[in-house]
Amino acid sequence: MPAVILVTNDDGVHAPGLAALASALDELGDVYVVAPDREQSAVGHALTLHRPLRVTTVGERRFSVNGTPSDCVNLAVLGLLPERPVLVAAGINHGSNLGDDVTYSGTVSAAMEGTLLGVPSMAVSQSDPETGTLDGAQAVAKLVASRVLVEGLPGKTLLNINVPAGPLAGIRMTRLGHRVYQEKVVRETDPRGLPYYWIGAGPPVWSEDEASDIAAVHRGMASVTPLHLDLTHHGALQRMGEWDGALSALLKKRLR
Ligand code: MN
Repeated sequence: MPAVILVTNDDGVHAPGLAALASALDELGDVYVVAPDREQSAVGHALTLHRPLRVTTVGERRFSVNGTPSDCVNLAVLGLLPERPVLVAAGINHGSNLGDDVTYSGTVSAAMEGTLLGVPSMAVSQSDPETGTLDGAQAVAKLVASRVLVEGLPGKTLLNINVPAGPLAGIRMTRLGHRVYQEKVVRETDPRGLPYYWIGAGPPVWSEDEASDIAAVHRGMASVTPLHLDLTHHGALQRMGEWDGALSALLKKRLR
């Protein structure tokens, strides 16, 4: 019996990118789709804990869930699938998930959830989705997935893949780029005279880094960035080694 592959997304179960990813990975295993019943972009890693989750069968091995991408992965891996998947793939997202933006992304969070559950996981996004077909992203997804299935991934590590629209110049291993926050929050007044605020109004500005995912996609290459989920900064932990002694002494004085 072929291995089970889980495909999910954050654009919702009816998004063309989801079907494209499922069909791209079809030859690599038994693909199951478990995806949110509606658009869930930028929900990050949210889990639904305070209301029941419902699963609706929308086709053969295709399910929709009234929850977040992380809900879908959790539900699928821990109960819905007939066996533990060998791969979790999220996407193909409508729009890129580059640099620091990965922290907001539901697509990347779905792959993070898979990783936390111990399943090799990858997120696939396509930039400028209005201008290109999904062919390039499908080809890259299949190639990378095949490699992951053979070689595995290091512990707590997922792959964040971004594919530019248009002709592909190649695939490059990259690191995350960084956003430069220079635009301000926009403050306007609504028709009732009350202030409202708008964040993320301008186009993002990125710091110059030739080795980044942003630079690769800008040059027409697909970027593959390994992300690590051990968020502890071990160097800082070592450097701040005396903080606990000093702070404990101060706390003792304060509480006396
Ligand atoms: Mn999305």
